Amino acid sequence: MTNPLYDALVAPLAARNTPVLTDAAGRTLSGTELHDMALALATALTGLGLQPGDRMAVQIDKSPRALALYLAALASGVVFLPLNTAYTADEVEYFVSNAGAALLVGSPTRADSLRAVATRHGARFETMDAAGDGSLTDLAGKAPAGFVPVDRGPEDLAAILYTSGTTGRSKGAMLSQRNLLSNAEVLVEEWRFTDTDVLLHMLPIFHTHGLFVATNVVLLSGGSMIFLPGFKAEQAIDWLPKATTMMGVPTFYTRLLDDPRFTGDLVGHMRLFTSGSAPLLAETHVQFEERTGHRILERYGMTETNMNTSNPYDGDRRAGTVGLPLPGVELKITDPVTGATLPQGEPGMIEVRGANVFKGYWQMPEKTKEELRDDGFFITGDIGVVDADGYVSIVGRQKDLIITGGYNVYPKEIELILDEQPGVLESAVVGVPHPDFGEAVVGVLVAQPGQTIDVDVVRAAMGQSLAKFKQPKHIAVVQELPRNTMGKVQKNLLRKDLSALFA
Ligand code: ATP
Ligand code: MG
Repeated sequence: MTNPLYDALVAPLAARNTPVLTDAAGRTLSGTELHDMALALATALTGLGLQPGDRMAVQIDKSPRALALYLAALASGVVFLPLNTAYTADEVEYFVSNAGAALLVGSPTRADSLRAVATRHGARFETMDAAGDGSLTDLAGKAPAGFVPVDRGPEDLAAILYTSGTTGRSKGAMLSQRNLLSNAEVLVEEWRFTDTDVLLHMLPIFHTHGLFVATNVVLLSGGSMIFLPGFKAEQAIDWLPKATTMMGVPTFYTRLLDDPRFTGDLVGHMRLFTSGSAPLLAETHVQFEERTGHRILERYGMTETNMNTSNPYDGDRRAGTVGLPLPGVELKITDPVTGATLPQGEPGMIEVRGANVFKGYWQMPEKTKEELRDDGFFITGDIGVVDADGYVSIVGRQKDLIITGGYNVYPKEIELILDEQPGVLESAVVGVPHPDFGEAVVGVLVAQPGQTIDVDVVRAAMGQSLAKFKQPKHIAVVQELPRNTMGKVQKNLLRKDLSALFA
C-alpha cells in the first residue's frame, strides 16, 4: 500500500505521544490522538459512501478536528475542498455545484441553508462546529478502529483548492499528491524545519498558506503547532514566547508593530518569521528589524503552485523582493503578449514550472489551456522583474495594469511614491473608466493614525516624480482599504466604488 502524502504526514503521527497541536485554551493533542481522530473521520467518510476521488467541500471553523478532517481525506483518498468561512450559502452553492461535491461539511449554526444547498446538488450534508463537534464527529465516534488508508499515487488528486477570487471568479486548482508533497519537502529543507519547531499558527486553514505551507511543513518535519482560531495581536503576544517560528500575512506584522508590547525581548528566542499572500511593504520589513532584530523572510506563491520563490534562510533577505526561485522551480519572465522570454531586468509575466505546479483548473479546460502551457509553464498573471542576482520582485498583477490613453501604467510604481507622502499610511492605485483616456489613474490613500493628508501636497509631489500620464487624475482618502482575510487589497471593490467618477 502506498499513499505518499498519508505516509509522509499522517502515518508518523501514530507512534508520537508528544503534543502536535496546542489550542487557544492550552490543551494539547498528541500525535497519536490526532492520528486516531483522522482515521476515525476517514471511517466515517467511507461509511457515508464516499469513494476515493469523490469531492468533500468543507466550510467549518478552524479547530484541531477540522485539521484532522484534512488528514482523513488524505487517508481515504477523498479530494479535500476547503472553503472560506466568510462565504454565504449562495457562494458555497457555486463551489458545491462546480466541484460536484459528494459531501458538504458545514457549521451547525448554518445547517438549514447549507443542507438545502447540498440537497439541491445531490450531496450529503454533515456538521462540525468550532469545538470540533457535530454530526460528522458523532459518526466518527461510533466508527470501529482500524481504518486502512487507501492506495494513492503521486498523480492522484489530494485537493481542489479554489483561488481567492481577487481578480475574478474563484477557480478550482487541482492539486496532486506530488504537487503538495514536493513543495512541503522543499520548504522544510529551505526553512530548516525540524521536530523541535513550534509554529504559531494563526492563519485560516481554507487557504494554501495556512493549510499547505504551514501544516504540511510542520507535519512533515515532525514539529508542532500552537493552533489558534485566527489572528489577534494580544493572543500572538501571549503565545510567541512558546513558539520558535511564525508564518503570517503582512497585516499580522503591521498589527504586531502597532502594539508596544511587541518587543525584541519578546521574540529574541524566535528562529523564523515568514510573510506571504500579499506584498510586505519594505517599510514594514525595516521597522520589524529595527524593533526585533529579525528580518522577515518573504516568499511568493499561489493556490495553483504552492510556493515558487523564497528569500534565503541563510543569506540576504531583501526587503521588497520575494527572493529566489525555490529548488526545483523554474521561473522566467516573458512578454505578456508574445510569450517570448525577456532579457534580465525587464518586467514581464512571471511563468513557473516544476513539480509544484497544479494539474489544471477543475472542469475549466479553456481556462487551463490559457494559463498552463503545453511545456508545463504556468502563466501566473503576476508581473515581476528579476535582478542581476536572481531576486524576484512582484510589480503587480497583469489584471491591475492600467491602460490610460494607450500607455501602460503599473500601479505599484505609483503606490510606492504615494506611500512616501506626508501623513500617508498606505495606498492603492486603480484604473477606472474614463471617457477620453479609456481608463484614468486613481489613487486611494489611507492616513497614518491621527494625521490628515493634504491632497494638494500629494498632487504636487506626483507632478514632480511622475510623467503626466501616470499621475492620478483623482485622489481619494478613505478610512481603510478593503481587504480579504488573507490581507489582500480588493482592488475590484475599489474599482467598483469609483466606477462612476468620470462618467
Ligand atoms: P484569483 O486568482 O482568484 O484572482 P488570488 O490570485 O488572490 O485570486 P491566491 O492564489 O490566494 O488567489 O493568491 C495568489 C496571489 O497572491 C499571487 O498570484 C500574487 O499576486 C499574490 N501574492 C502571494 N504572495 C505574494 C507576495 N509575497 N508578494 C506579492 N504578492 C503575493
Ligand atoms: Mg490568482
